[in-house]
Amino acid sequence: MKDPYEAYRNMLRNWDGRCILCGEKFDNMESITREHLIPKSKGGCGRDNYAPSHFNCNQLRGDLSLIETITLINKRKDKMGLETFREWCNKPVPNRRSAQEKENKRKAKRSAAKATLAESIPLPAES
Ligand SMILES: [Zn+2]
Repeated sequence: MKDPYEAYRNMLRNWDGRCILCGEKFDNMESITREHLIPKSKGGCGRDNYAPSHFNCNQLRGDLSLIETITLINKRKDKMGLETFREWCNKPVPNRRSAQEKENKRKAKRSAAKATLAESIPLPAES
């Protein structure tokens, strides 16, 4: 099975496996998004402009600068407490299914297709 997170893993290696906005490590690959260091609207582009961030941290950024976002996130971290904050930031991207879930769905589809095929073969007529 091809690793759907290969590009993310390479990016994580350059950033010590941490979210650039909150500084926490990723518990899972389902919460990872690609952050633009320089916003696209300000001309940021290319692979060097990407850094890993949690989906929830990324959502908080909006139009804020990196420093403003980090300040905001640190305040939130203090307010929530580290444990609750870690749970919050590691929540998966909505609608992103885990690799295991995808694999299970693929298998279910394949066996359903096989069952349909078996039904379509006519049974020998009884004599
Ligand atoms: Zn984060």
